[in-house]
Amino acid sequence: MERIYIGMGSNLAEPAEQLRCAVQALAQLPDTRLAGVSAFYQSDSLLPGQPRYTNAVAALDCRLAPLVLLDALQAIETGQGRERLERWGPRTLDLDILLFGDRLIDEPRLKVPHYHMQARAFVLYPLAELAPADLRLADGRLLKDLLAACPFVGLERLPAN
Ligand code: ATP
Ligand code: MG
Ligand code: MG
Repeated sequence: MERIYIGMGSNLAEPAEQLRCAVQALAQLPDTRLAGVSAFYQSDSLLPGQPRYTNAVAALDCRLAPLVLLDALQAIETGQGRERLERWGPRTLDLDILLFGDRLIDEPRLKVPHYHMQARAFVLYPLAELAPADLRLADGRLLKDLLAACPFVGLERLPAN
């Protein structure tokens, strides 16, 4: 079993409900145990003109191979109505693999650690709820250093999932 962290996001069609539905789908993946879910966080879209986002992180203990997991995540996205019309467009559901055990993955379809996580408060703060305080990424960076460089600005932590 490897510990995997999934970044989840939605800004269409009742985002919190989309995330709750995605958590149920993650829990039903084969060879996978749902190990935890962060609080939900809201923030404005980084791009103008889009609805606010709701984000969270899920922790999985999983035996699936990385690309098999990616295929399964994309099937869950599609099943919840994800349409890829434009890059970074509004979406019912985005599921990104943030960390995959202690692996560094550099495949055409999959880069891990997720390439933008250090710049995204809506990823780092929910991740920090689930991960050990001294978590070191496969590339050597410490989660606590990434947090220190990424202020908790514009994030609203929702009281209950
Ligand atoms: P961003 O990557 O900036 O968060 P996004 O999540 O909206 O943007 P998507 O349209 O969901 O981007 O995914 C584009 C492609 O990114 C996918 O087809 C997938 O192959 C690739 N990808 C690369 N690394 C990852 C990863 N760690 N997790 C999920 N998808 C990844
Ligand atoms: Mg994404
Ligand atoms: Mg994505």
